[in-house]
Amino acid sequence: MAKARRGRKRPPPTGDPDPGGSAREHWRADGQPKTRFDHQDDANRSSLRLRLEEGADLDPYRCSFCGGWHLGNRQE
Ligand SMILES: [Zn+2]
Repeated sequence: MAKARRGRKRPPPTGDPDPGGSAREHWRADGQPKTRFDHQDDANRSSLRLRLEEGADLDPYRCSFCGGWHLGNRQE
């Protein structure tokens, strides 16, 4: 009687940060950590500068992974 193992469902590890989950806001798509700002003011200033210089539409957001601030694409 062979056991049919379908799928690769494993219970999520407890205590580990979920890759692609909660820590996703901290990492860029290429695997590098995003630029971190200690204060929202710094993130705001950088966001404004990028908007003026590059036309980038980035919003500062609080990162729950590192506790700092990052800039991300506005997605609405
Ligand atoms: Zn972070």
